[in-house]
Amino acid sequence: SDLILDVRDLKVHFPVYGGLLQREIGSVKAVDGVSFQLHGSETLGLVGESGCGKSTTGLAILRMLQITSGKIVFESIDITNYNRRQMLPIRRRIQMVYQDPFGSLNPRMTIGDIIGEPLEIHKLHGNRVERRARVTELLEMVGLRRDMIDRYPHQFSGGQRQRISIARALAVEPRLLICDEPVSALDVSIQAQVVNLFQELQEKLGISTIFIAHDLAVVRHVSQRIAVMYLGTIVEISTRDELYANPKHPYTKALMAAIPVPNPVIEARRSHQTIQGEVPSAQRPPPGCRFHPRCPHAMPICSEMVPELRSEGRGMVACHLFK
Ligand code: SF4
Ligand code: MG
Repeated sequence: SDLILDVRDLKVHFPVYGGLLQREIGSVKAVDGVSFQLHGSETLGLVGESGCGKSTTGLAILRMLQITSGKIVFESIDITNYNRRQMLPIRRRIQMVYQDPFGSLNPRMTIGDIIGEPLEIHKLHGNRVERRARVTELLEMVGLRRDMIDRYPHQFSGGQRQRISIARALAVEPRLLICDEPVSALDVSIQAQVVNLFQELQEKLGISTIFIAHDLAVVRHVSQRIAVMYLGTIVEISTRDELYANPKHPYTKALMAAIPVPNPVIEARRSHQTIQGEVPSAQRPPPGCRFHPRCPHAMPICSEMVPELRSEGRGMVACHLFK
């Protein structure tokens, strides 16, 4: 059908240097064999603790870092080995919203110029008058007032700044939006508002979206499917309804246990405490199932054999409990 993105066995390993001569002594397997597909108008939630490779996956799709192996196909074009120049026309169609709405807006530019910049870069809406009209439309689309157009970023709150970042990303009418923890830096009271905005925009515009978050509560209301990542791999991927009704992987269950009731704001704050043990390092991931040192169901086979991601019910899970 309308396949937008096809990620196949993606690996992103970063070299680690050490010793007197700063030789390469190993690598951090930040992303270690990730596969998923994204269809038109679909939002995929990508969830896991920090360091599990979610942001790296997003940056790899944008071709902002070196890919070790695997394949990324966007709208039937294999962009795995595209360089910066080749990516330029593609970058119009893949936009990113970052976590930090403070760092990502140029303080010397007006909101109008910030949101209008991608239109200029990609030579859309040619003259200044047309661009301004488009920017005004975008401001209203993200719930800001049109008369704010000549203000500067410091005159806005965190939530408003994230709305500005979203407007900028939407300006060029992307096919794919990658949102990297877009509400994590925001005040708890503001998070739900911005999540609601994403939901509204999704219904209105139908842009395929990868929504990265560190807990399940934040992605619950915006995702049709959810992938749970642990130490560079996807351990479970399923429809949203199936995942919440019937989580299968012990890690998913542990993440889920941190969620008491469907209040995205409260949930987001509570979820950090529950899972036992340290997250092991992606430089020397545990053998077999990477979750085994923390898993309450670990069996002998779990430290010996890597569990494959395989179909189970309406989703896929990588765990020896399912055969
Ligand atoms: Fe736990 Fe074993 Fe399943 Fe890994 S494979 S999640 S250790 S039961
Ligand atoms: Mg991150």
